Amino acid sequence: MRRVAVISLHTSPLLQPGSGDSGGMNVYVRELVSSLAQAGVECYTYTRADREGLPCEVTVEPNHTVVHIEAGPHHLPKEALGDVVDEFTDRVLEHLDIIGGVDVVHANYWLSGVAAHRIKHELDIPFVSTFHTLARVKAEGGDPEPAWRDRAEAELINCADAICVSCPEEEAQFRRLYGDPQGQIEIIAPGVEHALFGPGDRAGARRAIDVDPAVPMLLFVGRIQPLKGPDVAIRALHALGRPDARLVIVGGASGTTGDGEVERAHELVDELGLHDQVDFVEPQPHHILSTYYRAADVVVVPSRSESFGLVALEAAACGTPVVASAVGGLQSLVDHGDTGFLITDRDPAHFAKAIARILDEPLLADTMGAAASVRASRYTWAFAAARLRRLYADLTARRLVLGH
Ligand code: UDP
Repeated sequence: MRRVAVISLHTSPLLQPGSGDSGGMNVYVRELVSSLAQAGVECYTYTRADREGLPCEVTVEPNHTVVHIEAGPHHLPKEALGDVVDEFTDRVLEHLDIIGGVDVVHANYWLSGVAAHRIKHELDIPFVSTFHTLARVKAEGGDPEPAWRDRAEAELINCADAICVSCPEEEAQFRRLYGDPQGQIEIIAPGVEHALFGPGDRAGARRAIDVDPAVPMLLFVGRIQPLKGPDVAIRALHALGRPDARLVIVGGASGTTGDGEVERAHELVDELGLHDQVDFVEPQPHHILSTYYRAADVVVVPSRSESFGLVALEAAACGTPVVASAVGGLQSLVDHGDTGFLITDRDPAHFAKAIARILDEPLLADTMGAAASVRASRYTWAFAAARLRRLYADLTARRLVLGH
């Protein structure tokens, strides 16, 4: 296994996650590629240049290059990116020709998949896809996508040599919604950077983020969008009925417009009379987030759907119990009653009840926090990269021997 082209068309792994189109996928691509590179695989990550003045290539570390591809006007909303995929793919193919080709193309998200599909056929190399989200999964979470995206995804599913999912729950959901794909499904559990995210001194963390060590602190981390349920976190704080409790919300608006979700969250806080109890914090650099996780008594993840849920894993790695919706990957990350609680119906009162148990039973909270960090230690990017290397090697060997 020599070289891989990783496609991340709509968002760069170099961007700060936590707002706009940047979130878990950016962290996934950056960390996974870094681990592949450290294992000796030469990786080129192709992303669309979305602003002026970006260098054509950025060498992130040895074996790890991010290539900015000029395709269409810089500022384009995600919905308009379908129109520039062909131009993007042409430019990627030109670059691949210059560097002498790659052994595998690995797409992230369906837009990248459309590019990778063509690259697979033009270069006759295996095509691996990590969808991160899929139209039918979003529709189940109450957030429908246009029919053309669903058709495009169905076509990609038929063509991909392998589809990476993050956990058995995501695989089961995939098979239920799409049937058995032509290629193989591979479970590649994401990791967490343990050098950054580990248990630490809660009081010191509170001082660092200026939160009184004596007050109960709830934490929500993620983009402010309906899918993530910031409203459920706010309503859960209200249902908790403890005027001393604080909810810290770290993250910014989602997409290019944000669709007024941040304003709606502020309005809800005012409507419920919680303005003294809720702090909105700008998106934080990934490494700073560990201080927030360590400072919190409980991290709340009330998502409608979640293919994996890196925030829940990072919180657990920091030794903080998680109260999450029982959806998607969160079900495999949180051991109900052991490392936190899973709530089946997204009812804020049920979230509040689980949060109250953690706040009121310090022994339970400590035991859960310790169990959470042990549980999280299973997840490393190096392990994810090792599985991926084996997958790439299998696919390239099969192509050599069987011709497909
Ligand atoms: N994140 C961050 N800074 C922020 C907010 C979020 O670095 O201010 C990161 C967070 O650490 C996590 C990712 O963004 O790694 C969000 O991933 P998750 O899987 O929870 O949600 P997604 O964005 O994929 O829906």
